[in-house]
Amino acid sequence: MVLQENVPLAPLTTFKIGGPARFYVEARTTGDVQDAVSFARSRDLPLFVLGGGSNLLVSDAGWPGLVLKAAISGIEQRPGNDDNEDGKTLFDVGAGESWDRFVCHAVIARCAGVECLSGIPGSVGGTPVQNVGAYGQEVSETIESVEVFDLKAGQVRELCREACGFNYRSSIFNTTERGRFIILRVTYALEPGGAPRLEYADLKRHFEGRETMPNLAETREAVRHIRALKGMLIVPGEPDCQSAGSFFKNPVLSEQQHLELINRAKARGLTVPSYPALETRKKASAAWLVERSGFVKGHGFGHVGISSKHALAIVNRGGASAAEVMALKEQIQTRVEEIWGVRLEPEPVMVGF
Ligand SMILES: Cc1cc2nc3c(=O)[nH]c(=O)nc-3n(C[C@H](O)[C@H](O)[C@H](O)COP(=O)(O)OP(=O)(O)OC[C@H]3O[C@@H](n4cnc5c(N)ncnc54)[C@H](O)[C@@H]3O)c2cc1C
Repeated sequence: MVLQENVPLAPLTTFKIGGPARFYVEARTTGDVQDAVSFARSRDLPLFVLGGGSNLLVSDAGWPGLVLKAAISGIEQRPGNDDNEDGKTLFDVGAGESWDRFVCHAVIARCAGVECLSGIPGSVGGTPVQNVGAYGQEVSETIESVEVFDLKAGQVRELCREACGFNYRSSIFNTTERGRFIILRVTYALEPGGAPRLEYADLKRHFEGRETMPNLAETREAVRHIRALKGMLIVPGEPDCQSAGSFFKNPVLSEQQHLELINRAKARGLTVPSYPALETRKKASAAWLVERSGFVKGHGFGHVGISSKHALAIVNRGGASAAEVMALKEQIQTRVEEIWGVRLEPEPVMVGF
């Protein structure tokens, strides 16, 4: 285990914002993880587990304790057991692998189940945390189990899918058991020879008029293309990419709140957007609420701004501080709540605030 001190965290995040980690270690094996945990405990240091840094806002002061970068690598493929996994192919993937590299690997292996999640930045270990989802798929549909180091029990454990408590952008890892588990490996069960999932409107539109069914590789390319148009693909040098992706979750509303929102929209001569992805859980479009509250695409507020391609992404326009991002976040939350009666919750994890 190589321990470093005062390591700048900004370059390790997609936002490129934030102060240093007092101590920093890259854990490449389960043994490294255990050593790092022992070090943090022996000094009574707070521990933060870093993946690909794509869903974080690190404070300007940084992290006062130990940052453990989950860097276990490796993708192992094995046939599933017919009784348990319906002939699916299993992939045991190290938490430190790039998520998109794994999706590419699965597509080349002609295994279906994650193709719509192409182009999402970050690590494999980060995917169960907020039950990553896009374009009609969520990882909770294909995660078979998650191998973790349980800080409470002090041992390595295997959690089955049901034990992870997956829901919209949530799991036990970011709710009830936040901070308890370090994810070491994730096992995905994918369908060999399966067809791509083409349910999302943007994807259907992309393939409109085509006579043959797109394959997994074409679906992956289509998703990456659509994501690039929305600034949701990390392209080096592209100014809209210095973000944490969508800054707010789509709010899940009660029947009453939904009606109230529709009425407020009517009073302004507007119609609340409704499409299948939102209807499944009575969600409202956070992007629509942000834009209809005056925060339009491309709008700048000093060093921070709204992406020119997506109203939901707060971007670092260069040299932004975490304090500036927080100020814009609060401005948006207050305005949306005043106009629409809905409180938006941020999606990224706030570190060191
Ligand atoms: C341009 C862009 C587009 C995006 N699009 C999407 C999208 O379409 N859908 C979507 O769901 N998300 C999206 N995101 C958000 C983000 O990419 C995902 O949430 C991703 O899974 C985060 O993984 P990460 O490894 O970067 O985690 P990090 O950002 O490093 O960490 C996020 C949280 O996970 C925890 N964590 C990370 N690794 C581990 C581990 N091994 N063990 C325990 N805890 C861990 C951290 O402690 C932290 O709490 C996008 C982000 C960007 C920048």
